[in-house]
Amino acid sequence: MINWFEQYHSSAFISDLIKTQTHLFVAEEGVGANQLLENLLKKLLCENLTDENKTCNACPSCRYLVYEHPNIRLIDKNIELKSDVITIDQIRELSSFIELASTSERDKKVIFIKNTHYLTSSAANALLKNLEEPPNNTFFILLTSNLHKILPTIRSRATIHKLASPTNKQCEDYLKDEHPEAIKFLDLAERKPFLAIQMADDKELINSIVKIFLRGKSFDMMDVNESLLASGPQFFVDLMQKWIADLAHFKEFSTVYYFKNLLDQIELISNQLSYKELLNFYKNLIEYRRLSETTINKSIALDNLMIDYKRIFA
Ligand SMILES: [Zn+2]
Repeated sequence: MINWFEQYHSSAFISDLIKTQTHLFVAEEGVGANQLLENLLKKLLCENLTDENKTCNACPSCRYLVYEHPNIRLIDKNIELKSDVITIDQIRELSSFIELASTSERDKKVIFIKNTHYLTSSAANALLKNLEEPPNNTFFILLTSNLHKILPTIRSRATIHKLASPTNKQCEDYLKDEHPEAIKFLDLAERKPFLAIQMADDKELINSIVKIFLRGKSFDMMDVNESLLASGPQFFVDLMQKWIADLAHFKEFSTVYYFKNLLDQIELISNQLSYKELLNFYKNLIEYRRLSETTINKSIALDNLMIDYKRIFA
C-alpha cells in the first residue's frame, strides 16, 4: 500500500466519496495517484468490501481488470497517437455509456478521466453538460497535475481532493521492498517514486545521455541523435535541464540536487565553466523545450542546442 495515501483507504473516505458524483483529484505526476484511483474505482464497484475496507476479489465486479470492467470508462490523451489533448469526440463517445441509466445501487458506473487538464475547451464544455446533471449512480473521477488549467465551472462542480506528495522517507520505505534499484534515482526523479521506478527501468538510456553531457565539447552528434530517438526530446531536455541546474548550483554552493553520484565529475566540469554562460545556456534550453513541443524539425533544433552546449566549453 502507498503509505502517504493512507487516509484515502479508510472506510470513512469511501462512504464520503459516494455522497457526491464528481471528484477532482490533484496530484503531482509520479506520486502514485493512478494506482490510488484505480484501487478506489475497484472499491466503488466491489459488491462486498471486506471489514478492513478492501476489495473482496471474489464478486463479479472484482473479477474484471479495472479497465476491462463494463461499468468503467477510462478517458486519457491518446498516447499512441502522441496526442496532447483529450478531444470533444472522446467526451461525446461517453454519451451512450452514460445514457444507459443504471438501475440499481449495485450497478454503479464510473468515468475516470486522467490528465483532465488536456481537455480541449470544447471537450471541457461537453463534459460540463454531463456534470451538470449526472445520471443516478454515475461517478466522474477526474485527475490532474495542473489544477489551474481546469475550467472554473468544472472545478466548482467537483469535490476537490489535493493528494499529498511523499516525504523522502516515505519514498524509500515504499521502494525498498519492491523496487530497491529505484531508490538511487529518487533525487533525479524529484522524489516521485513512480518516476524513479521508470527511470530505473530506463537506466541504460539515462547513462548514455549522461555520458554525452560528461564529454563536454567532445561528444558525437550521432550519439545525441540516437539517444533522442530512443527517448523523445522532452526526456532528453528534462535530463539536460537538471544537469545544467546541477552545474550552476555547484558553482555557487558546491552541492548538487540531482546527480549526487557524479559529484566529482560535476566539480571538474563546473570549474571549466562560467556561471553566466551556464545561465545563458539554460535559457536556450527552455527555448528549445518550447520549440520541441511545436516545431516539425526537431533535429535541427537539437543540433543548434548541442552546438551551444559545445560552445560553453570553448
Ligand atoms: Zn468485490
